[in-house]
Amino acid sequence: MEKISRIRSRISTVSSIVVLTGAGISADSGVPTFRGEDGLWRRFRAEDLATPEAFRRDPVLVWEWYNWRREIIAIKNPNAAHHALVKLERQARSFTLITQNVDGLHAKAGSKNITEIHGNIWKTRCTVCGDVSHNFDVPITILPHCKKCNGLLRPHIVWFGESLDPADIKRSMDAMHTCEVLLVIGTSGIVQPAASFVSTAKGAGAYVVEINIEETPNSYLVDEVLVGRASDVVPLLINRD
Ligand code: NAD
Ligand code: ZN
Repeated sequence: MEKISRIRSRISTVSSIVVLTGAGISADSGVPTFRGEDGLWRRFRAEDLATPEAFRRDPVLVWEWYNWRREIIAIKNPNAAHHALVKLERQARSFTLITQNVDGLHAKAGSKNITEIHGNIWKTRCTVCGDVSHNFDVPITILPHCKKCNGLLRPHIVWFGESLDPADIKRSMDAMHTCEVLLVIGTSGIVQPAASFVSTAKGAGAYVVEINIEETPNSYLVDEVLVGRASDVVPLLINRD
């Protein structure tokens, strides 16, 4: 507990906080992680479906999988960790949330300054004209087409083998270079470039705190490792007022 209060007072005195979240923060809301026990759909692994090749080969199958994921996520709610981050944003002078999650739960909780580096499951993108729009239908029509040009729509998600939006990388890297505290919550540290964000922030002098149910490849380089569930640990780090 001494460790927790040390971290809490550090967080409450700095002016610039960045938070990086991964699938683990939403696991406590009942959204499965890809590498967890519930990561399989039919006989497929996420790595076989969340790719441009899979979509080219069989867009119906890929959209069916997204319908299954939309159904799961639609009925989930933000948990105590998501809510604690909303409170932290209100208290901090400068706050940036970078998430690898596509579930939209940070926005549902009320976080404002969010960069969704892997996209959002509630958005579609036209494969012809590139138009991005919200679509909250559950299930979504198979196959959905663009209202502007009738092109095939795909999920607005960064798939395995695809690049992140350069503007998102720049915003994230700038945040890592300038933050005083970085909280890394529920992310494995395997998926790039998010994995390297942590070493960038550390190299630039940030105080880095990792919250995860287990140690990760990042654990050795951060300042504090808090092993526990995000929904239990994150609220302890935020002042109650
Ligand atoms: P990941 O690589 O970020 O791994 C999840 C991490 O969360 C693991 O390190 C695990 O130990 C940790 N974890 C699990 N339960 C936790 C808990 N209760 N509290 C704290 N930490 C916990 O993510 P992944 O599942 O391998 O998925 C890879 C990518 O796929 C993601 O970055 C994301 O883009 C996408 N994805 C998104 C969602 C979502 O939006 N909720 C879910 C699955 C996958
Ligand atoms: Zn279009």
